[in-house]
Amino acid sequence: MTPIYDRVALIGLGLIASSMFWAMKRNTLAGHVTGYARSQETRDTARRIGLCDTVCDTLADAVQDADLVVLAVPVGVMGDIAAEIAPHLKPGATVTDVGSVKGRVISDVTPHIPDGVHFVPAHPLAGTEHSGPESGFATLFDNRWCLIVPSEGSDPEAVETLQRFWRGLGSNVDVMEPDHHDLVLAVTSHCPHLIAYTMVGVADDLGRVTDSEVINYSAAGFRDFTRIAASDPTMWRDVFLSNKDATLEILGRFTEELFALQRAIRQGDGDFLHDYFTRTRALRRGIIEAGQDTAAPNFGRSG
Ligand code: NAP
Repeated sequence: MTPIYDRVALIGLGLIASSMFWAMKRNTLAGHVTGYARSQETRDTARRIGLCDTVCDTLADAVQDADLVVLAVPVGVMGDIAAEIAPHLKPGATVTDVGSVKGRVISDVTPHIPDGVHFVPAHPLAGTEHSGPESGFATLFDNRWCLIVPSEGSDPEAVETLQRFWRGLGSNVDVMEPDHHDLVLAVTSHCPHLIAYTMVGVADDLGRVTDSEVINYSAAGFRDFTRIAASDPTMWRDVFLSNKDATLEILGRFTEELFALQRAIRQGDGDFLHDYFTRTRALRRGIIEAGQDTAAPNFGRSG
């Protein structure tokens, strides 16, 4: 494949950036990739495992001459990083991000983007509960969606090139409005994470169930909550603080549904519960038919 960008700079070298690097190498999407992380430890690790063609010790060096700059840091610091790199960006470059929230990132980053530089926000819907420079892998984005969320005035050619880049990384690509993105993600990702954190917190608080019982007998649903609740605390703190309105809206609806189910259990209303669970089962079938999960028992896991 001919490289789509000559020089790409990855800012932040965690799960998403490292997966992007390995996926770029797999399909030769970039001529040269520089990387920067704030801590010496992460930069040392990156150098040791060959993550990035050049690991830089400053933001300015990393973005120098880059055609594409990818902000892959927690949502809450995107604005500060944009301010710091702004004077060093090459005219005609594209700045993008991979943040899980779009409205807040757009309002924080846009004011710092110099004239002649394009800002095209994006969000790959792919991840694991692991983080850091060693957690990435080339196939993370394969057959997953990447939502491109052009901000007002995003250059159409820059948008088109970024779409090609994400397809090259293995993703299916769609374009979405920022507010709609944040609402959709509140339903599909942010609130489910909060519910998982809550359930694991309940088990942790509950004195009557011992830790070993929780660990040994967790196959029945709880184990999947613990996997989600092991996700990076900084990233998820920033997601909730940045997508406040949409998550509160969906949590309000969730609470109403929970009360309805609670009442049905108390009143012994089996028909209500059965109808409800039939409806939710159909949604699960839709996800499998769309190729977004496996129908194998136990989610295809061995243990
Ligand atoms: P990660 O593995 O935890 O890596 C985060 C990177 O950001 C690290 O290199 C870290 O540097 C750096 N960083 C953290 N705090 C910083 C700060 N205050 N200032 C400067 N740099 C800082 O995170 P990730 O999972 O790749 O997530 C990166 C972005 O992708 C986030 O915006 C997240 O919302 C988004 N995202 C994540 C997922 C997912 O499932 N994980 C999915 C889609 C999108 P050090 O290593 O030096 O500390």
